[in-house]
Amino acid sequence: DKLANFDSLEFKNVRFRYNNTGPYILHDVSFTLNKGEQLALVGTTGSGKSTIIRIMNKAYMDYEGSILLNGIELSSIPKASMLHLFSLMQQDVFLFEENIHFNISLGAAQISDEAVVDAAQYVYAHDFILGLPGQYQFELKKSGSNMSAGQAQLISFARAVAQGGQVMMLDEATSSVDSITENLIQKAIARLFAEKTVIAIAHRLSTIRHSDQILVLNQGKIVEQGRHEDL
Ligand code: ATP
Ligand code: MG
Repeated sequence: DKLANFDSLEFKNVRFRYNNTGPYILHDVSFTLNKGEQLALVGTTGSGKSTIIRIMNKAYMDYEGSILLNGIELSSIPKASMLHLFSLMQQDVFLFEENIHFNISLGAAQISDEAVVDAAQYVYAHDFILGLPGQYQFELKKSGSNMSAGQAQLISFARAVAQGGQVMMLDEATSSVDSITENLIQKAIARLFAEKTVIAIAHRLSTIRHSDQILVLNQGKIVEQGRHEDL
């Protein structure tokens, strides 16, 4: 099975528009991500960063050019055959009115209690969870209103780790968080970058600095590409 494990993702001259009479949103985007590497996407608002992540996740099928996942054209891969490869950490964290445990496991039967705690530990969320009344049974209120923005992000990181995707896709939040939580987020991102294959839409310099490859997008075009030292 060629899709059992992530090996590489290659964009070759990808052009994309959201509808076939609208403007092109991506123009000739090309890059390669290999297993174990970290890629950062940076650029102004509206430059196409989230669009790239959405296309990778097959939210839209009709791109032009070629996108190869392990050498196979993405448009010919059923979404169910690649769900285990990608874990997405969204910019706007989606939390359920359920307890912390559920928000990390998403109720997946194959994720044990131990795996939930391991994932939380991995992203430095475990200690703050232990400080909550009920700990992993702490019930979140509607839209996470009894959680800080930074804590919500840590829960989202733990969720992605627990889901076990081989490629972590991080759409970094811009919301301001307190400095203690910010430190935890930084440590979690640094650990993900050191140990996983990562695609990060990055706002923080520290995230960019830790990546093997940086793509600078402007109006859907790659205007610079390289390592932090080279740009
Ligand atoms: P930000 O930094 O603000 O998150 P981004 O780089 O992620 O921006 P995208 O969300 O990829 O930008 O949007 C790229 C362009 O595509 C923008 O011009 C946006 O208006 C347009 N766009 C995004 N989603 C859609 C959609 N569903 N339909 C039509 N156009 C869209
Ligand atoms: Mg975006």
